[in-house]
Amino acid sequence: MRIGFIGLGQMGSAMAANLVKAGHQVTVWNRSPEKADALVAAGAARAEWPVDAAQGDLVMTMLADDRAVEGVVFGDGGIAGAPALHVGHSTISVALADRLAAESGTGGYLSAPVFGRPLAAAAGKLFVVAAGAGAALDRCEPVFAAIGQRTFRIGDKPSAANLVKLSGNFMIMAAVEAMAEAMTLAEKGGVDRSILLEVLTGTLFGAPVYQTYGEILVEDRFRPAGFAAPLGLKDMTLVDAAATAFEVPMPLLGIVRDHLRSVIATEGPDVDWAGIALAIRSSANI
Ligand code: NAP
Repeated sequence: MRIGFIGLGQMGSAMAANLVKAGHQVTVWNRSPEKADALVAAGAARAEWPVDAAQGDLVMTMLADDRAVEGVVFGDGGIAGAPALHVGHSTISVALADRLAAESGTGGYLSAPVFGRPLAAAAGKLFVVAAGAGAALDRCEPVFAAIGQRTFRIGDKPSAANLVKLSGNFMIMAAVEAMAEAMTLAEKGGVDRSILLEVLTGTLFGAPVYQTYGEILVEDRFRPAGFAAPLGLKDMTLVDAAATAFEVPMPLLGIVRDHLRSVIATEGPDVDWAGIALAIRSSANI
């Protein structure tokens, strides 16, 4: 297929590389052009403007936030009105996904946010949560297979996929918060964090989220960030906007959001979002 890929950050560069490997004809665009060099060397074409990457079958976007997506779609040289089907993988607000669906023009719009960190993206092992018109989702199946291990189809309203993604990211943060509080308690009481994790994941908490983030907490692997705390804070703010729109109280959300603010203030913006453990430990004077 002729695919455009816009946004070559940690996630996008790995996803686009897998599309090239799978034999698709890929055209890439990134705000900082040098990030496209490795992909161009691997066989991708370079677009001068976002719209130049949206002339084929699909154009996939994997950008930081709402502002970045709005710029690439509706700004100068943007993809609004281009013939390609727009497949949005970024974690963005429900409101922006609704706008993209309403103003997608002839090409159409699907939301397909993903679960999985950059290592999973590089291995083609993301989980894709896709929503939009059934025929458009059918056309994307081979592409989703190249970037992910499983695709969940969750209906014909694109923004539903964004709501699932935001709910999932809230639960990851809530799991990290609970684990970091328990590890802080254990550590201050003289039990090694790694022992606590071994017992928990070997008994009732064997889920991937506890295994992946538990290791990060045990080894203090907060830099380089796989998912930077400011992006995590962006997501919790999007959860808050959805909670306000749907009138759903989420008291736990306020706690994890403040811990993200705290760790960004003390550690800087390059810390991983699991670094909320540092804020929890410091409040216990560890
Ligand atoms: P990243 O490495 O920070 O990359 C962000 C990308 O967005 C870069 O290509 C950046 O371009 C571009 N960008 C930022 N602001 C822009 C603007 N105003 N105009 C145009 N382009 C702009 O982030 P990432 O980790 O790949 O995450 C990308 C998306 O995936 C985010 O929505 C994130 O929430 C989501 N996500 C991340 C993970 C993860 O574990 N990392 C997992 C699942 C989903 P430059 O290169 O020019 O800065």
